[in-house]
Amino acid sequence: MDVELVSIGDELLLGYTIDTNAAFFARQAAALGIRVVRRATVGDGADEIASGVREALERTGAVITSGGLGPTADDLTKPSIAALFGRGMFLDDSIVESLKARWKARGWPGELPVANHAQAMIPEGATILQNKHGSAPGIWLEDERGRWVAMLPGVPREFRGMTADTLLPRILALGATGTVIRSLTLRTTGIAESAVADLLGPLAKDPLGVSLAYLPGWEGVDLRLTVRDLPLEVATERLAAAEGAVREKVGRWVYGVDEADLSMLVLDALRARAMRIAVAESCTGGMLGMRLTAVPGSSDVVQGGIIAYDNAVKVRDLGVSEATLAAHGAVSEETARAMASGVRTRMGVDVGVSITGVAGPGGGTPEKPVGTFCVAVDVRGEVRSLRTSGVGDRHEIRQRATQAALSLVRKALEG
Ligand code: AMP
Ligand code: MG
Repeated sequence: MDVELVSIGDELLLGYTIDTNAAFFARQAAALGIRVVRRATVGDGADEIASGVREALERTGAVITSGGLGPTADDLTKPSIAALFGRGMFLDDSIVESLKARWKARGWPGELPVANHAQAMIPEGATILQNKHGSAPGIWLEDERGRWVAMLPGVPREFRGMTADTLLPRILALGATGTVIRSLTLRTTGIAESAVADLLGPLAKDPLGVSLAYLPGWEGVDLRLTVRDLPLEVATERLAAAEGAVREKVGRWVYGVDEADLSMLVLDALRARAMRIAVAESCTGGMLGMRLTAVPGSSDVVQGGIIAYDNAVKVRDLGVSEATLAAHGAVSEETARAMASGVRTRMGVDVGVSITGVAGPGGGTPEKPVGTFCVAVDVRGEVRSLRTSGVGDRHEIRQRATQAALSLVRKALEG
């Protein structure tokens, strides 16, 4: 089944609020075989809402709106869509009563404000969608031809709750699709999008009939495989076959699937080997330590770290020699190696990892432009290092450096 979403709100158009409702709905719906074929965002004006919903109704006949159900004058979703359907509005006393009860139960002072009565105004012939997560009920409006609009509140917690417990069951009841949309993401790092495509060769486009999206970001390139409109078993099989084929070509760059986080995998790899790790960070100033310690249970693997930002700290606290710094500079594989070994031995652990680089925006040179960074890992005296470069602003370059360091640790551990 195909549906369209219309997100309502000036704040969405202005870019101050990200439309998380639409993303949430699409993901939930896909698992049930309900496909979002188009999304629109419109402002709070009655005309904008009406034209957005009218167009979607004409195309698809199945529309979900988010937002504009609040109690204030800028909440015009209901009247404008009621007018589109040629329906009047009436005050539903039972909703007024439940709003009053809710007001009291919350312990809020005084009586329910008159403004809230707007939330009890219902289009004629509408079905009320219970909202167990907030005050404004949702509305289901359907015409003689079976075309429908489901109106949900914009508050994300309420939208999500109602989608799960009320809206999706109702849509499914219109006609179970019997099919699903399934996705699987293979997460790669350390390889460019174009290089992935080269390695995949004929599989680069729609491997084994499964659609493939390349999603580059600072963590690496995610490869999202998606199958649509298939029974669950067939979908699962196709996806697995495509995953196998893609892994065969680029598997050595894949560090996990779906939500996998490289820091989690590194911690697991260390734990499995009963090893402990310490970090030495220059340009990332603690980001790597933060990523590692963000994972619950990291304390049985992470010893600690040193933020060796100034060269004096690299020398005094990590034992990097003045000669190394003078000969190769702070941003060099030699310095990175000395930092990794220094932190490992000084903290008395199995693994030391280091990062040093030029995060910018200043400080670049022709030999070491902004974005250049070196990472190194010392596993019980065996040292590896890597010099590479990342694009982006200061924050992104630092993020890329942490990812490169984690990737190097993982490779060093797994050989
Ligand atoms: P509304 O239902 O339009 O009164 O919106 C209530 C709150 O939910 C406001 O803070 C909005 O910014 C937020 N909101 C509305 N629509 C969305 C959306 N599509 N995604 C995320 N937040 C939203
Ligand atoms: Mg709004």
